[in-house]
Amino acid sequence: MHRRILAPGVLAAASLLLAIPASAASYSPGAPGIGDPYYPDYGNGGYDVSHYDLRLKYQPATDELEGTATLSARTTQDLSSFDLDFLLDVSEVRVNGTEAAFSASGQHELVVTPKTPLAKGTAVTVVVRYSGVPSTKSAYGFTAWHRTPDGAVAADEPEAAWWWFPSNDHPSDKATYDVSVAVPDGNQAISNGTLQATASQLGWTRYSWRQNKPQATYLATLALGKFDVTTGVSEGGVPVINAYSKDLGDNDGAARASVERTGEIVDWLSGYFGPYPFSAAGGYVPNTTTGYALETQGRVFYSPKQFAKGANVSLIVHELGHQWYGDDVSVKGWKDIWLNEGFATYAQWLWSEHEGEGTAQQLADYVYASHPADDPFWTVKPGDPGADNQFDDAVYDRGAAAIQALRDEVGDTAFFRILKGWPTAHAYGNASVADFQKYAEQISGKPLAALFDTWLFQPTKPAAAAASRPLAAAKSGAALARPKSWKKIESAHEAHRG
Ligand SMILES: [Zn+2]
Repeated sequence: MHRRILAPGVLAAASLLLAIPASAASYSPGAPGIGDPYYPDYGNGGYDVSHYDLRLKYQPATDELEGTATLSARTTQDLSSFDLDFLLDVSEVRVNGTEAAFSASGQHELVVTPKTPLAKGTAVTVVVRYSGVPSTKSAYGFTAWHRTPDGAVAADEPEAAWWWFPSNDHPSDKATYDVSVAVPDGNQAISNGTLQATASQLGWTRYSWRQNKPQATYLATLALGKFDVTTGVSEGGVPVINAYSKDLGDNDGAARASVERTGEIVDWLSGYFGPYPFSAAGGYVPNTTTGYALETQGRVFYSPKQFAKGANVSLIVHELGHQWYGDDVSVKGWKDIWLNEGFATYAQWLWSEHEGEGTAQQLADYVYASHPADDPFWTVKPGDPGADNQFDDAVYDRGAAAIQALRDEVGDTAFFRILKGWPTAHAYGNASVADFQKYAEQISGKPLAALFDTWLFQPTKPAAAAASRPLAAAKSGAALARPKSWKKIESAHEAHRG
């Protein structure tokens, strides 16, 4: 229900009626959610952000974060008020230079009411001054702000922004970023994109990062602490910036032996997915107790635990695969998660093939054969898994098997054209599973509705006819050998929460 900006009593005042356009009655609050059925409160209605400028200061000893966020946005409806998603303590909000009223609401909403309502299509500058101790804030009983012995890191999916900057927190509203953070001398601040400048003054060093390509809010990351930073350029010309916590202990060697291959893997993936879409690549390994990785744009977040058994290049391939599938082309809604995880997993299958540790077909056969028809694995629909199953194994493994089924159906030539053409077709934008099906049909010239329905939208194991090659293996009754690459591929499933 929308609250009207003009109370009936005010409407009766003739002088005001003259001053306010007839359409003023249509001014209403922006919705507290952007309309994603998986997460009704995530993102907000009524505006679209094009740029975030975050100027922050962080004290590792106390976990105090303070600063100013400036958002450049445009309204998409007549707005009497609008929401931002945020958890820290706000001291002031200005809209187009004028102080605005604000209040906290719900689990993570900051409701902003500008002095003057905003007409649809208006450019808006929102300034939010804030401070707080992010580790003391939680929403829905959890936190995405991870304290480390020497600082903190923000990286999680689908929510991570609430703990460090106010946003329209949904991947459908992508924006560019300038993230500038001052930390005590001897510490570093790591974020997305390229390092534009560092400056030291009075015991504080400021790191200014720029992400010059549109980025989803959950792909924005911040790490604060003591890091060893390495820089280089890939053979293909992509600048690489990596960072390692200085206290990774026994995991330090394996972490570096994996993440330092970023440039090589980026170039290798470019052969399948097209030119690398961002100004720099890289990864960072903070000293967290988390067990997952996240494809934060241009600067992947890795957990030390993932290198406890040695180097894991397959994991690097997965996260870098996301730079095209997930980051460059982002989901329209969270139900489209297969476009991220299916393809990042398939990138690992291609790497396995490259390394002689099992072909993509052998991996697909293995997935098909190792889950009997009554395995709940097949009840998860990768094309619309539901919020609870967004990161279920099926989204990854059945999801990648679906891609192999597509390859079988359209043949290698069309398949690899699709794989490489898709990121360019939707560069820096958003797309849905339906968009992908349409694109694959267009490139291959084949109707694919039945194949997509069988592999992505039915809660059952695809029948023999829909899985011709896996059937051959299943029919033989012989137990399929587990491809050598399997364990490392599976370890990337912990790439996300749960
Ligand atoms: Zn992933």
